[in-house]
Amino acid sequence: MKRSGVVLAALMLLAGCSGGNDGRVVDDARLLAAAEESGNWLTHGGTYEEQRFSRLDAITADNVDGLGLAWSHEFDTNRGQEATPIVVDGTLYTTSAWSKVFAFDAATGELKWSFDPEVPGEAGFNACCDVVNRGVAVYEGKVYFGTLDGRLIALDADSGEQVWSVVTVDQSKPYTITGAPRVVKGRVLIGNGGAEYGVRGYVSAYDADDGSLAWRFYTVPPGPGAPPDGAASDSVIERARATWSGDWSRFGGGGTVWDAIVYDAAFDQVLIGVGNGSPWNHQVRSEGRGDNLFISSVVALDADTGQYKWHYQGTPGETWDFTQTQPIILADLTIGGSPRKVMMQAPKNGFFYVIDRSNGQLVSAENFVPTNWATGIDMATGRPIEAPNARYTNGPFLAMPSALGAHNWHPMAFSPVTGLVYLPAQEVPMAYANDANFQGREGGWNPAIDFLANPVPDDPAQFRAIRAMLKGQLIAWDPVRQREVWRVQYDGPWNGGVLATAGNLVFQGNARGQFQAFAADTGRKLWSFEAGTGIIAPPISYSVDGVQYVAIMAGYGGAYPLSSSFVDNPRPMPNGRLLVFRLGGDTPYSVEQMPNPPAVEVTTRFTAAQVERGMRLYESTCSVCHGPAAISSGVLPDLRRRPSLADADSWNAVVIDGILKDRGMRSFSRWMTAEDAEAVRAYVAGRAAVLRQQEGGGSAERR
Ligand code: CA
Repeated sequence: MKRSGVVLAALMLLAGCSGGNDGRVVDDARLLAAAEESGNWLTHGGTYEEQRFSRLDAITADNVDGLGLAWSHEFDTNRGQEATPIVVDGTLYTTSAWSKVFAFDAATGELKWSFDPEVPGEAGFNACCDVVNRGVAVYEGKVYFGTLDGRLIALDADSGEQVWSVVTVDQSKPYTITGAPRVVKGRVLIGNGGAEYGVRGYVSAYDADDGSLAWRFYTVPPGPGAPPDGAASDSVIERARATWSGDWSRFGGGGTVWDAIVYDAAFDQVLIGVGNGSPWNHQVRSEGRGDNLFISSVVALDADTGQYKWHYQGTPGETWDFTQTQPIILADLTIGGSPRKVMMQAPKNGFFYVIDRSNGQLVSAENFVPTNWATGIDMATGRPIEAPNARYTNGPFLAMPSALGAHNWHPMAFSPVTGLVYLPAQEVPMAYANDANFQGREGGWNPAIDFLANPVPDDPAQFRAIRAMLKGQLIAWDPVRQREVWRVQYDGPWNGGVLATAGNLVFQGNARGQFQAFAADTGRKLWSFEAGTGIIAPPISYSVDGVQYVAIMAGYGGAYPLSSSFVDNPRPMPNGRLLVFRLGGDTPYSVEQMPNPPAVEVTTRFTAAQVERGMRLYESTCSVCHGPAAISSGVLPDLRRRPSLADADSWNAVVIDGILKDRGMRSFSRWMTAEDAEAVRAYVAGRAAVLRQQEGGGSAERR
């Protein structure tokens, strides 16, 4: 008895360690051939090509109306949910906000384990765009993920126990990690974010076994006169430096690699998407001179050494927060009768690029939304043809698209069946004005843009008129002919990522919380589910025991709801959810909506000078998370409704003493005095009075 028990335990251990029914861990061979395992979702974009196309075809355009909820899981946070789940042989791994990791039985939803890296709440301050995380990588029995405070952690895939952890950034600087790692040839690739706060971007490769650093590539050269880094990027330092001016190192230069990292096996290279400059404003960052390599570019690196191979810079000398980090899809396309190995990308600047992966040569580029900063791309040089004053050197410029992007991180999908790319696009204009008073705040929000050029009107009709300008689309784009085939029009931006399937389906969630399926060939809406909270994440599909599932992380957040006031009917967000669907699924589902607390009545008398000063401080410091004009979308607390607004001491305890730091609200004593904090209170109190009037709770005039 005893002996057989030991044997049984050993067998179970073996099966457990193998991580799967077929007794194999995820290795290089499986990752390279991931397309042949349609039941799994082995890597971030489904396969190394990151097409986000599922070959499963049990759920089709003909039967999708029978799709229903199989199971769901409620997370412990109402911050944004952006992860792509990974599914390996019946286990689903995902991350939620605050870099927490979860492993579920993919068929039943039973929680196998969870891991909380205990990110300090204060790290939330460094995240321009919410405390999100876009997912894990799974490789040879380990689960890898990045944390908001810059760690890369390996967990045992079966137990969730930590195997190793390395700090990938200088934690004295405002770096964050929100992106998903990718595993390439035994190394874990990870980037970082923080270019709004003043950092220098790079991508690193760590040994998957022990976390030792294999190579690093800096996207911005070291400052004038600074020594080489001893990194893979050293060989291009002088070439890059020739494209910068002044001392760009003061705010790091930017160029963070915060999302797209794609392995191109055909050329054994890694393609990285590089972010915006730091500060955004080219006049401040680089004296208005130079292309600033390699910000706002795609760079191809040798997969083994990280050495530079080629680059394509979509927005030379960028000055609009035009990142080129957006998701990259690899495909074989027939162009002009010839097969081409290309990458496709739709970065923030509004142009859809098809680029030859063998050499970085631009194949074609067309705008997919209206663009007024550039009239087109010069195919001889590959450079945008910029409009007069697009760089706001001669007064403000109302740009379309703008910092939130014509397309942001929300993944697009490509169907080799239809030959179409399904692209979550948006139209969000923004006025850019040079911040003549820019001083810079070390570690703080530093775009060097005057955001007061974007007023938020109190008049409801004017507010609605601006709101109506903001749009979102799901666009089916023919990448060969560079033209739109069909679109789904939304009444607002910041909708979810996309999945295409062999069942002639496209799945996408939207900002209003509807998870929907469309016919991939025509765009006809076929199915919809009310998630009870906005959706920004991309869906995936997998199968267990022959049953096809579709999974999506639901939970609104990210850059748009934090930094914009133009969200309809804002209210406190419910907790995020993982939703999993199957044909015939009938699990009951409801989400309780939370009411808004009343606007606070403030009886303190403030001077006009206090209110004016508070407005400038608020709009330059606080609005990026709590919303312009103190109008919050509901992801972060609406300050007009916070009880602490009524009392100077309570307010000071939050803003200066940092008593809510564990919840992400750090002390601002580094940049504000108590008098500054009181001035901000004066401004927000006025905003609360306007809200009380709008909601019938009192008159702004009477105070
Ligand atoms: Ca940015």
